[in-house]
Amino acid sequence: MKTINFKNEKKTILIIEDEEINREILSNMLSDNYDLLFAFDGEEALNKIKNNKDELSLILLDLILPKMNGIELLKIIKKDVELEKIPVIIMTSDSKSEEETLNLGAVDFIPKPYPRVGIVLARIRRIIELFEDRQIINYTERDSLTKLYNKEYFYRYIEMIDHNYKAVSMDAFIVDISHFHIINERFGSKIGDSVLITLAKKLRDIIGNIGGIVCRKEADTFYVYSPHIDDYKKLLNDILDDLFTGELSQISARLKIGAYQNVDKSINISTRFDHAQMALNSIHNNVVDNIASYDIKLHDKEIFNEQLIDDFDKAIAENEFLVYYQPKFNIQNEKEYITSAEALVRWNHKKLGLISPGIFIPLFEDNGLIQKLDNYVWNSVAKQLKKWKDIYNKILPVSVNVSRIDIFDPNLINKFENIIKENELDHNDLILEITESAYTSNAELIISRVDELKKLGFCIEMDDFGTGYSSLNMISKLPIDVLKLDMSLIRQAFNEKKDTKILELIIDLAKHLGFKVVAEGVETKEQLEALKELGCDIVQGYYFSKPIPSSEFEKYLIGD
Ligand code: C2E
Ligand code: CA
Ligand code: CA
Repeated sequence: MKTINFKNEKKTILIIEDEEINREILSNMLSDNYDLLFAFDGEEALNKIKNNKDELSLILLDLILPKMNGIELLKIIKKDVELEKIPVIIMTSDSKSEEETLNLGAVDFIPKPYPRVGIVLARIRRIIELFEDRQIINYTERDSLTKLYNKEYFYRYIEMIDHNYKAVSMDAFIVDISHFHIINERFGSKIGDSVLITLAKKLRDIIGNIGGIVCRKEADTFYVYSPHIDDYKKLLNDILDDLFTGELSQISARLKIGAYQNVDKSINISTRFDHAQMALNSIHNNVVDNIASYDIKLHDKEIFNEQLIDDFDKAIAENEFLVYYQPKFNIQNEKEYITSAEALVRWNHKKLGLISPGIFIPLFEDNGLIQKLDNYVWNSVAKQLKKWKDIYNKILPVSVNVSRIDIFDPNLINKFENIIKENELDHNDLILEITESAYTSNAELIISRVDELKKLGFCIEMDDFGTGYSSLNMISKLPIDVLKLDMSLIRQAFNEKKDTKILELIIDLAKHLGFKVVAEGVETKEQLEALKELGCDIVQGYYFSKPIPSSEFEKYLIGD
């Protein structure tokens, strides 16, 4: 990056001139006011320019040079995005080359033999000042914290690169620090700033070396445009290598990269970074991978997602969403018996057929449609319960899923109260399943909401226990009735090593705290027997039944 020369500093000029006598003359004229560097031929000149690009205020260029002549050198300088900003004044006795060199980007001309020293100095001073004004404009186009380009300037720079290097394959990618706000919260914003500055510098060094550019898009997100990179794993390792030292050695940040490789230069620049962002988003909750690339699959997925979002309202209106029921069995009696069920939604899409909630729920959680969908499901379940009550004079409690987004709805309590009232149900006919990760993401709000619901008489089940970060110590303080062990805990306990110790410990502690324990995803007799042994109360899983349509579920109501 170029530094600004302050007015009282001596500025540096590179004089490219092969004739001794001319160097003498210029040195006499300028050395009082400027620091001077000299190059004797075109190749040496190019090296010196590259090595001193941040210090050079001006280049004085003789056109006739050994190895590479002045015109060739000028062409190279003006094509290079890093060098093209250094002003070049041509020195020649051949007035015919004036037009050509000006067209090539030279800013002024000094004829040979040289004019009076006063004239030479005045021209040089004027050009340097002009150039510095431009630099100051550039300077304000940088991010004040990291000194990286800001986005607007970065985009303009990309246009320039594309223009000058049409044949070079380029990558657009985004580097993002996971959970940066936690670093800020834990260590304070001063350390947070240092982390950003350190990372920015490292990125600029590494990317700059391969001819790329970097900007800070916002907070902890960096945009990079660089010649194509083959090995992003290596890049990530290089960035992380020795990244945080000294006062930052306590920081262990996870970096993620979303890359759009070998960009299609016919699409606009912001779309290229949208693609990179899409790749980055696909990493989202994946704890193993830190790098993702945009490809056609991702593109198709995005289109598919957009279609689902577009079709949503109509699907609600036309009852395309179906509620399936999966029974839960009490296993602590001699004979297992059904205690309740979980309502699980499916989308019977007109064109695409039956779609599983694993596909559309995360999507609807991202854009808020989940609230509408959950309302629809809760109402359908309540209506179904009323219907069963009317027909069979019997009711089985059913659990519904409450998304973490629903909790933010200030009207949530009212909604549930209305549903109960309208369908003449009791509060304990509905079990509310709230996923563990909701509790960790916004603990205070969730706890107060859930507390209210529990006080009204709803039964609260913590879903997916074992996937988040809550400890048993923490859940002892939460307003819940039932702990639902995530499928992954069951799988882990019954893998090749059959390590049921953790499961045993969790069940013991949960019981000690007064919670009922549900195990989900139970598929085999062996799992069932072991869970029974360990004291688990209730079991849900394919061993007993998959989720089934309401009509089929009725057999459990008639059954006993
Ligand atoms: P979940 O709440 O953890 O639901 C349990 C999932 O495990 C269900 O997947 C169920 O079909 C599946 N499952 C049950 N037993 C077994 C088994 O023995 N083996 C295996 N392999 N799987 C089993 P499903 O129906 O695909 O639902 C996926 C997730 O979508 C649910 O996970 C829940 O988080 C969400 N979801 C479903 N319906 C709703 C809804 O109405 N509202 C909200 N907010 N989320 C929902
Ligand atoms: Ca659930
Ligand atoms: Ca679950």
